[in-house]
Amino acid sequence: MTVALLSVGTELTRGEITNTNASWLAAELTTLGFAVSAIETVPDITDVIVEALRRLAKTNQFLLVSGGLGPTTDDLSAACAAEAASVELVRDESTLLAIQRRVEARGRTLNAGHEKQALVPSGADILPNANGTAPGFAVRIGECTAYFLPGVPREMKPMFADQIAPRIRPAATNDGHQIKLRTYGLGESSVGLRLDGIEARFPGVTLAYRIHSPEVDVKIHARSGTQTAARELAVRAADEVRSRLGDIVFGEEDEEFPEVVGRALRSRGLRLAVAESCTGGLVSHLLTTYPASDFFIGAAVTYANAAKTRILGVSEDTLRGHGAVSAEVAAEMASGARSLCGCDVALSITGIAGPSGGTTEKPVGLVHWAVAHPSGTI
Ligand code: ATP
Ligand code: MG
Repeated sequence: MTVALLSVGTELTRGEITNTNASWLAAELTTLGFAVSAIETVPDITDVIVEALRRLAKTNQFLLVSGGLGPTTDDLSAACAAEAASVELVRDESTLLAIQRRVEARGRTLNAGHEKQALVPSGADILPNANGTAPGFAVRIGECTAYFLPGVPREMKPMFADQIAPRIRPAATNDGHQIKLRTYGLGESSVGLRLDGIEARFPGVTLAYRIHSPEVDVKIHARSGTQTAARELAVRAADEVRSRLGDIVFGEEDEEFPEVVGRALRSRGLRLAVAESCTGGLVSHLLTTYPASDFFIGAAVTYANAAKTRILGVSEDTLRGHGAVSAEVAAEMASGARSLCGCDVALSITGIAGPSGGTTEKPVGLVHWAVAHPSGTI
């Protein structure tokens, strides 16, 4: 069963905002087992929107439209939906009442903009908006059911998850299953080489790669007669992929690297301190971005040599002899951070971030890091 996405907004076609709604919806629909046939973006122009609605409705069972439900004159979606469905635009009294209550609860009075948001195509199925004023709705355009959602992601996402997904789920083909493995440490082509022949060995499986440097995701997508069979096929293929990739696989699905590092430390009861130079606190920030970062004791951002010496106890001789960006200084930073914080493990990082400051022996991009732990320093 195919679904098309239509994003409405001149802000999108002018490149002023990124179309995160379309990528979020496409991923949700794929997970539900639908094939997304097209993602189209149109500006706030009536004729263009109506033409796109009619055309996409001809070849898709469902159409998901986001944006343009608000109170302003550039919000055209309800009127365009009515035109594409060849019905009148009518006022929905219960929607108006709900809007009125919401507006009055905030100490304001109903205005023409609010009233406009109660206009929906005649016969539309209303989707209440728990997080905003304008409701969504569903209308038939020929054989297609078109769902209209607000553009604001905070309103759009729960409306899709709570009201639309349950309605359309039974129509999903549901014969696919995907497992995503997250890897770190090898480039895309090396990862691909290691997985040579997997697709031939597991018919029905396709591999896809996505790089977001320095990580490479491997997506193992299986299609089979039923979803259970597809899941089993994906699991078998993923086992083979894991054994070929070994320890470069750090996580699955949406797990992030710092999150996995934190979990590994916590499960071993280890506490971490960090000493940063070129990263200016970024590593510590990433490690504390996820919940339950109680494994993290603290950090010292020691940018200048004097700070490395005074705070971490890095020796002036080491700094003079090897330079701030050296394995020797990284090692002293890590062991200094470890004794300063009195914790099990300390990580240090020192490097030449650029754009200037590089030399032939120490080019921009050179980084040394060290880990100090109970039995020594790496
Ligand atoms: P409003 O009542 O705020 O006018 P609306 O349903 O009419 O909501 P739009 O006017 O199209 O929606 O967009 C409102 C805001 O929602 C935009 O300024 C933008 O911040 C966000 N938005 C809209 N479309 C998208 C999209 N495709 N991806 C991400 N954000 C979006
Ligand atoms: Mg708007």
